[in-house]
Amino acid sequence: IIQLYVPLNWFGTYYRAIQKNFVDMENMFDLMGVDSDVKDAPGAPDLMARRGGIEFKHVSFGYGPERLVLKNVSFKVPPGTTVALVGPSGSGKSTIMRLLFRFYDVNEGAVLVDGQDVRTVTQSSLRANIGVVPQDTVLFNNTVRYNIQYGRQGAPAADIISAAKNADIHDKILTFPDAYDTQVGERGLRLSGGEKQRIAIARTILKDPAIVLLDEATSALDTNTERNIQAALARVCANRTTLIIAHRLSTIIHADEILVLKDGEIIERGNHEALLAQGSFYASMWQQQLENRNSANQENGEGNNA
Ligand code: ATP
Repeated sequence: IIQLYVPLNWFGTYYRAIQKNFVDMENMFDLMGVDSDVKDAPGAPDLMARRGGIEFKHVSFGYGPERLVLKNVSFKVPPGTTVALVGPSGSGKSTIMRLLFRFYDVNEGAVLVDGQDVRTVTQSSLRANIGVVPQDTVLFNNTVRYNIQYGRQGAPAADIISAAKNADIHDKILTFPDAYDTQVGERGLRLSGGEKQRIAIARTILKDPAIVLLDEATSALDTNTERNIQAALARVCANRTTLIIAHRLSTIIHADEILVLKDGEIIERGNHEALLAQGSFYASMWQQQLENRNSANQENGEGNNA
């Protein structure tokens, strides 16, 4: 009996870690036959996915009864456009992603994808249409090939290579001891943060979802890596409905709309120029980042050119 409890506990912990860190293991629950907190409605149909339009309609949500983490949040991400979420730590950005993925159900209001309430369709069909590039990708203890192919099981080798090329990771993979057959993860070759993120990008490109959720890495990567990642990220988002959690505002100046969250409410919205012109919360965040960058450059002896 004791032996039975160990793996169950282990999985419970792991499941919570998945929800918390929002790693992209959307099908893992199905694969392992584990109950998530939410259930498909009896006889629920699959999502009729079109181009992945997203709508939050007066959404309120709390993890427990004592406190609302999102309060009356409404926004749309029209098909093929990019909306960015910014705001202080704890303002509710990741929670919005989790609700879209239906890790939890809303207390009030509704989350719609292509006009369908996510509570009315199967979770598997919803998640099949959403690709996630998390902040910190957890790789399976398996080969590079397996880790990319996870995006679309059964994908032929040519598609895997093409996805890796689009994610700027193919050349790097060829330098690994067994190329695509190299074991990675905790028990294999350790990859850098940037390499892991590019594996996640390749996986998502292979999956080819209508919607992409991007959680930008907080930790600064070096400038060259950064530039490559930005190009690969731009490719994974192209022509897809994209919701991005941005920590560096410089990466979202071209977003169609920026939502500024504070304490679970959208306090400002608009594009970069409009928000700067407004001269309030976003503008002060922008100013703050410029100043931080300047002082960092000065410390590195790179002069004052942000
Ligand atoms: P960060 O930028 O630090 O990632 P965030 O804007 O993404 O923050 P959320 O992770 O959405 O913020 O958290 C919003 C609020 O909900 C926070 O107060 C947080 O403590 C709380 N919270 C998040 N996850 C849970 C959870 N699983 N159970 C209870 N409370 C939670």
